[in-house]
Amino acid sequence: QARIDRLKANIPTVPDFPKPGILFWDIMPIMQNPEVFSDSVALLEEHVKESGIKVDVVVGLEARGFLFGPLLALRLNCAFVPVRKAGKLPGETVKCSYTLEYGKDTVEVQKNSIKPNQNVLIVDDLIATGGTMASACQLMESMQANIVECLAVVELDDLKGRDKIKYPVHSLIHC
Ligand code: 5GP
Repeated sequence: QARIDRLKANIPTVPDFPKPGILFWDIMPIMQNPEVFSDSVALLEEHVKESGIKVDVVVGLEARGFLFGPLLALRLNCAFVPVRKAGKLPGETVKCSYTLEYGKDTVEVQKNSIKPNQNVLIVDDLIATGGTMASACQLMESMQANIVECLAVVELDDLKGRDKIKYPVHSLIHC
């Protein structure tokens, strides 16, 4: 609990970012303190190891999922695969479009990066409405991956994002 408390103390809120009326939880200060950053990755690792889940691939979501995902993958001794916004990955890709409040967005992954039935763990920094995580799940489903868990450092409970996600969700911090 001490590690969780210290982690939480390093996630300040920024009002009106990126738009007026939005309260943004800023995870960057975690990385300014190596002990806190190390705790965050250790807590993610411990959770996965304690739950006994076998993971083949850690999938990280652009962009802040890339700050935690590769470190966790190394600790779990498994692959890391990035999910990016459309148009950033070379070679053959698999895409998934999803609707936002206004308009549409597309996420993409390299085609041969994940094999059918591989166990994937999807990681992001934060779950708000759950739309981003749900779209990544849809993308993984289209690759016939076996989604074992959706993992985040922070979850904004009031937004009920986990209700959009059909798989186990775990977050280190609930705000
Ligand atoms: P959702 O799709 O769940 O509404 O939003 C989650 C996605 O947007 C994540 O990829 C996350 O990085 C980003 N995001 C939304 N709100 C915040 C926030 O308050 N703080 C941070 N760090 N990221 C946020």
